[in-house]
Amino acid sequence: MDFAIARRRMVEQQIMARGVTDQRVLDAMLQVPRHLFVEPGLHSHAYSDASLPIGEKQTISQPYMVASMSAALELEGHERILEIGTGSGYQSAILSLLVKRVYSIERISSLAGRARKVLDQLCLSNVNIKVGDGTIGWKDQAPFDGILVAAGAPDIPTEYLQQLEIGGKLVLPVGDRSQQILMRITRLENGNYKREQLMGCRFVPLIGEQGWLTADED
Ligand code: SAM
Repeated sequence: MDFAIARRRMVEQQIMARGVTDQRVLDAMLQVPRHLFVEPGLHSHAYSDASLPIGEKQTISQPYMVASMSAALELEGHERILEIGTGSGYQSAILSLLVKRVYSIERISSLAGRARKVLDQLCLSNVNIKVGDGTIGWKDQAPFDGILVAAGAPDIPTEYLQQLEIGGKLVLPVGDRSQQILMRITRLENGNYKREQLMGCRFVPLIGEQGWLTADED
């Protein structure tokens, strides 16, 4: 399988065709080898229009969703970004090409370890990963120019609003455990927050102090 050709098809048919136009995001999606973030047995599916299992009942997000969330942050290159839910590390890799530094939190240590290895293999050294509850953000490193949450929250964790820089954007899925609305919240200069609903989506649950309290139905 020619992975470069598969990536180009993915970008043209799944991402550009659905309206993502940010050239820096499209270039990053063309560049990052998504197959390295899944098990060898799934390499041939790595550029399909789907999320895929990565173990621990978690998933690598659908390429279109990774591109859309990245584009929704409207990045220029100078930003420090907080990512919640490192998972396979694929979204972190895309962000690492788009910004100055990525701070990523994953609650499952085996996934965080595997993501670290792949990012190191690709020499993507501007990603800091820590294991912990990402629903409380990363206070030591706040404020952030953008926060991207790759798991579905029952509500907007207040810590994210507080850890956002003025002008910064928070992109996160909010809803119930099976389906959510992707929201973008921008911190305005006057202290208010602008809220936008971007699209429907389905993410695994955000589990923690300011998310769902348990992994399964309560
Ligand atoms: N964007 C990732 C990728 O490209 O592989 C996929 C993320 S996956 C859909 C969601 C991840 O969020 C899972 O790995 C899950 O363990 C993690 N997660 C859920 N709740 C979390 C929390 N409170 N803090 C940190 N990570 C969390």
